[in-house]
Amino acid sequence: MINQERVWNRLFELSQFGKQERGGVTRISFTDEERKAKDLIALYMKEAGFVVTEDAVGNVIGRKEGRIEGAPAVIIGSHIDSVPHGGIFDGPLGVIAGIEVVQTIVEQEIETDHPIEVIAFTDEEGSRFRFGMIGSRAIAGTLNKEHLQNKDQNGVTIAQAMKEMGLDPNKILDAARDPGTIKGYVELHIEQGKVLENHHLSVGVVSGIAGPLWTKWVLTGEAGHAGATPMGIRKDPLIPAAAIIQYIETETKKYPNAVATIGQISVKPGGVNVIPSQVEFTLDLRDIDEEVRNKIEHTIVSYARQICEERKIEVDISTLQRVTPVPCSKEIRQVIENSCKEIGLETFTLPSGAGHDGMQFKDFCPIGMIFIQSKNGISHNPDEWSSKEDCGRGTTVLYKTVLELAK
Ligand SMILES: [Zn+2]
Repeated sequence: MINQERVWNRLFELSQFGKQERGGVTRISFTDEERKAKDLIALYMKEAGFVVTEDAVGNVIGRKEGRIEGAPAVIIGSHIDSVPHGGIFDGPLGVIAGIEVVQTIVEQEIETDHPIEVIAFTDEEGSRFRFGMIGSRAIAGTLNKEHLQNKDQNGVTIAQAMKEMGLDPNKILDAARDPGTIKGYVELHIEQGKVLENHHLSVGVVSGIAGPLWTKWVLTGEAGHAGATPMGIRKDPLIPAAAIIQYIETETKKYPNAVATIGQISVKPGGVNVIPSQVEFTLDLRDIDEEVRNKIEHTIVSYARQICEERKIEVDISTLQRVTPVPCSKEIRQVIENSCKEIGLETFTLPSGAGHDGMQFKDFCPIGMIFIQSKNGISHNPDEWSSKEDCGRGTTVLYKTVLELAK
């Protein structure tokens, strides 16, 4: 069985790189802290019995061969970079658990048909360049030279940052993998939400990774005197805006995995005694199923157009970003569920609202994800916490899942 203490100790040992005074870590991509963390990961990998390499974008890859020559590999991945003042679990748990899986397999002298690889991806978080998942994009072959022109706060491009760490930005295509060499991708991650905690569960099976659709709504009417304009002749855009927002909640609640948030709203001109002339708000709409998300969007938009027409209010809706959701593979989900059952855990399925490296493998290979409980749902914060036991349970589920996939 997996060694829970070893996983736990490594999590804390790794957290010395970028350690912050008030707890947590700041481990930004292409920095010395990140380099040292990668070196320690490579050391763990060697200890576990992997052959370790580093690709053109700095992904650290440990590979253990299988019995069948040329068989596609099962990949376990996550990241070791963090947001500024982040926690010690987001990312590293998935990498360290992956190493533990293979170390256990080696120690138990189990042979698998398929090779197993553990990858510590470069820059998942995207905090430095506001462009993340650099390592996983490179492997999926979707990272291009234009992407490398994204700059950090100091005007340093990704390409320059790579050079400073001894990587050659002209060689990024070398990191791309042939999908035929990969059987599937599995990642263990903390939930970063409260769903598992509310259900008093340690482990959850991820149904898919939701993609955000961001739209900006501008409703325009006519300003007027709040005292001198009778109710019947007003063209107040805030009234239909309120109805639309209410409708968004009602409609979204009909779908179990959908979430909708109006995070910004402003009213113009913004006087206590002035009827608004314009209302602007944003909508963040997510689901793991693109069809469901499209359906909700369509229903909301037609309702909005109808109510605005009735009230002679102009409505303008623009798209800020539309990220495709990524469903997890049914087969891998089933294997994860069986693994949970085998160790007496209730099987519980939930979507991932946050993005993860697996999204980049949407058209590349089947993906699966395992979540463990996050204390109070806190993440991207030094208070981020998961218990030693839950880290152990998650790693055990990952172990059984990978053994089944790699056989
Ligand atoms: Zn993460």
